[in-house]
Amino acid sequence: MTDPALLARLRAAVDANWDKQVAWLQNLVRFPSLRGKEGPCQDWIAREFAARGWSVDRYTLSEVAMDHLPGYAPVMDTDYTQAVQVVAAVRAPEQQGRSLILQGHVDVVPAGPEEMWTYKPFDPVIRDGWMYGRGAHDMKQGVSAMVFAMDALRSAGLAPAADVYVQTVTEEECTGNGALSTLARGYRADAALIPEPTGGVVTRAHVGVLWFRLRIRGVPVHVAVAQSGSNAIMSAFALLKELQGLTARINARAKDHPLFAGITDPVKFNPGVIRGGDWGSSTPAWCEVDCRIGLLQGTKLADARQEVLDAVAQAAQHDAFLANNPPEVIWNGFQADGFHLPPGSEAEQVLAATHQQVYGQPMQARTSTEVNDARFYQLYYGITGLCYGPGGEGAHAFDERANLAALKTNTLSIAAFIAEWCGVREV
Ligand SMILES: [Zn+2]
Repeated sequence: MTDPALLARLRAAVDANWDKQVAWLQNLVRFPSLRGKEGPCQDWIAREFAARGWSVDRYTLSEVAMDHLPGYAPVMDTDYTQAVQVVAAVRAPEQQGRSLILQGHVDVVPAGPEEMWTYKPFDPVIRDGWMYGRGAHDMKQGVSAMVFAMDALRSAGLAPAADVYVQTVTEEECTGNGALSTLARGYRADAALIPEPTGGVVTRAHVGVLWFRLRIRGVPVHVAVAQSGSNAIMSAFALLKELQGLTARINARAKDHPLFAGITDPVKFNPGVIRGGDWGSSTPAWCEVDCRIGLLQGTKLADARQEVLDAVAQAAQHDAFLANNPPEVIWNGFQADGFHLPPGSEAEQVLAATHQQVYGQPMQARTSTEVNDARFYQLYYGITGLCYGPGGEGAHAFDERANLAALKTNTLSIAAFIAEWCGVREV
């Protein structure tokens, strides 16, 4: 329970900084921080952090050895010398309270055809209390919430009474290697808060996710004699159908799962990128499909991978060419375990109490069919990983938007959590 006078000070500070926060978020959304292009965005953030007097560690993923660590995801076609990460340390002279990691991701997913957007994806517009733009919702608004929650403390004449690390990472949308790198680099705290746009609820559980590339061969002949060739694109369809079947079987099992029984079809399969073939009148000799499949919390990654391999092998057996030229499965991206935050942790209790005070109602929990970076803390490092943040809609969709009123409330809620978890000292 936060002292009401302290909460009032924080509320006044969030209010006073609000216009600045909105402008800051707008600037953040202007960076087209797509995968591999996050550098300028991260450089700007590093300068912003340094201007606050925080001590900044700015590095790239190519500088960090982490392929031996649990949760690491292998990558192809990605230049990690460009993958900039930022960790700002806000150290307390003496540790009187509990330390905290605040972490958000700045990578965003591609916008798709721009003409399908009402407003341009990287030219954020505010209308009727919403800010539109790619990443405005997922999760640049959350990044603004954690930064301006810290600013609220300072504006109120306070500082955390324990160390706080403010981290902006990349690769959340494809591997999680950005989050993992901060741990590989040695950053630790008594809890981690990741303000993904959960709409003011805490994440109790989420599925796991595997990314893989299917590489399929064919035999090129003139389409006039297509029967004597083998069409790699048509073969890809057969494989995808088999993987849909696997997904249905996993979802049938989910009906008995302690965390996912209440959710219809929690495991999703998505062929997300396809390329292949060279000529309209030649049977294609190659096809590649980048896929994502979920897995139930509690399933071992090795077992989930084996099921994918078995499904692909099964489909290949029904094809004379593929039976002798088996498709390849290349693990390329997420190798993410399912997540569970057992109820009752100290950090969750503190968050629930401060949430109740700010929102005037109890904090709810969600079970998610997507992943987030909290898993690294919770599963592999014994650090409670709270995924809790502001609200909006349209993640990965056209006209993605952040709800500004919800953002303001959530910023205060995070400020109150920092004050309660870390304690405060007058400065
Ligand atoms: Zn996100």
